[in-house]
Order: sequence, then structure tokens, then C-alpha cells
Amino acid sequence: MNNSEFDVIKKYFTFPDSRDDVILAGGDDCAIVSVPDNKQLLITTDTLISGVHFPENTSAEDIAYKALMVNLSDLAAMGAKPAWVTLAISLPDINETWLQLFSGQLSTVLSSLHVSLIGGDTTKGVLSITVQAMGLCDKDKILRRDAAVVDDKVFVTGWLGDAAIGLQAISDELDDEVLKPCIKRLNRPEARVRFAEELTQYSKCAIDISDGLVADLGHVLSASHCGACIDLTAIPVSSSAKHYFKQYHNNKMDWSMLLTSGDDYELCFTVSNENESAVLALAEKHQLQISCIGEVTDSDELVFIDDNNKPFAFTNSGFKHF
Ligand code: ADP
Ligand code: MG
Repeated sequence: MNNSEFDVIKKYFTFPDSRDDVILAGGDDCAIVSVPDNKQLLITTDTLISGVHFPENTSAEDIAYKALMVNLSDLAAMGAKPAWVTLAISLPDINETWLQLFSGQLSTVLSSLHVSLIGGDTTKGVLSITVQAMGLCDKDKILRRDAAVVDDKVFVTGWLGDAAIGLQAISDELDDEVLKPCIKRLNRPEARVRFAEELTQYSKCAIDISDGLVADLGHVLSASHCGACIDLTAIPVSSSAKHYFKQYHNNKMDWSMLLTSGDDYELCFTVSNENESAVLALAEKHQLQISCIGEVTDSDELVFIDDNNKPFAFTNSGFKHF
């Protein structure tokens, strides 16, 4: 580490408010945290590289926001309460304006969720951000991909496919106010952390939708050795997304675009019939839209049924395991 790197770390990546369970954050070779006896530690990491994971002209604040949220979404997917993050950042140069905006947004999101930045690495190179997020969950409450049970209902949070439409709107340079919320959903995904922490009381099985519902629900079904029947008419589609298809797609819904593209960061989870009403009440409490989109079956296939009651095949992501 040279002096300018040290200055950057001190100025932009050292936040004053730290949690009680942080024994040491920064300044030594490792951070030290304490983990309560009755909890398990869940750890995840994701990298965002400029030009690969976000368009090169994405703002510093949006990059900071997304780098955190994609990681927090993984914690949410397993029901963990976020506690600490580390940040490994590679910067092409020391641009104080950019760093100020990036750091400000990072600090705002972290403090709003009571999460501490406890360490990292700062290097020179192509703009790349690697966040590692760590969270805590009661030992017997962790949500897992391999825990779906036949006859469980399949739910999703929020709306699916907005980010895909946002990306399309950017690449097609569509100057359309109605599509702005989709661009926002691409740049500022909302990890469903608060909802997920409580969902652990009523569900055993979840995943976050980062690669599209078809692929991610597919992972759940593979791990759980079951199938599912999903009703396309029950898929939550936002009004902006509907506008997109009406205006730019001959009024035809493109299910592949909505369900096989990335970056939704919504949760897909399963719930027993017994717990369904409790989950609906929980979503209401969190003012979060959730939709029941189908159920887990004892087949080995993920089947989608369209509005004519016919099976719908996804050409670009046919899923069948075993
Ligand atoms: P080392 O050379 O021992 O690996 P570094 O020089 O990389 O340590 O970092 C010095 C200290 O600054 C460490 O405690 C590290 O966790 C912290 N640090 C470095 N980069 C960042 C960053 N981007 N965000 C937060 N802390 C950082
Ligand atoms: Mg060291």
C-alpha cells in the first residue's frame, strides 16, 4: 500500500459508525468481529466490473448501490440479517469527485441497514468492485435451495423483468419517461432483506432471482428434487413493463425477456399451505408486493402454463433435470 492508497482508504472507506460486534475494522491485516453463539455466519461475494456488469456511463452512486444490493440480496435469499461487508475495489485513477459520490452512497446504504464496512483492498486497474457481505441467522432458520416440498406454493416478491426492460431501454436509447422506473430497477435493485429476515419463520426455501425466474427456480427444483407448475398469468409484471410491450413490441408480452434475463434481485420462495396466510400478512406488514405464481409438484419438470391453459416452452432456457 502506498500513501495515496492509504489516503483514499482513510478518506473514503473508513466510516465512523461501527457496530458493537466489530472488535476491529481496518488498520490491521484482518478485521475482527464477534459472532453470537446461537447464530450462524453466512458469507457471500459478488464482483461488478465496468462494461460487463454495468454500462460504463453508470453513475458512481448507482454502482455503489448495486454493488451492495446484489450481495445483500444473496443474504436475503438465505434469510440472513446483514451485519458486515468488505470492499475490494480497483480504480483506474484517484478521481476525488467519483470517490466522494461512491463513498457517500455506500455509507448511506450501510448505515440505513446498520451494516459496517470492516475492511477491504484498494488497487489500481480497470474499475471493478467486489463486495463481500456477511450476515447472521438463527441456526435452524436458514432458507435453502434444497428445501422445497411438493405441494408448497411458489411465491415471488415485487415485479419480474423490469431490469431487463431497463437495460433494453438504455441500449435502444429509448427516451420514454414511462420506462424510467425500469432503468431505476436495473441500477438500484432493492434487496428484500427485512422481509427475508422474518420470512424465515414461515418458509424453509428461497433463492434470489439474479439470472431470471426460469433459471433460478430451476436451481431450487434441482436441489430439492421436485418440479413446479407456474401460471404465467400470475407473474407480476409492472405497469412500465406492460407499457414497453404495448409501445415497442406490438403489444405482445415477451415472457423470455421477463423471465430469462438477469438483475431482478427479487426473491422466489416456497411456502406450505399452512403458512400461506402468515406470509401474506408479513408482506402486508412490509408493504411488499408478493405473488403466488404456482406450486411445487412431484414431477421432474418446471412447467409454465400460458393464458390459453397451454404449456409454454422457453426457447432460450429449457429446463429439465435428471
Ligand atoms: P494489507 O497490505 O495488509 O493487505 P492493505 O494495505 O490492503 O492491507 O489495507 C490496509 C487496511 O485498510 C486493511 O485493514 C484493509 O482492510 C483496509 N482497506 C483497504 N482497502 C479498503 C477498502 N476499499 N475499504 C475498506 N477498507 C479497506
Ligand atoms: Mg496484510
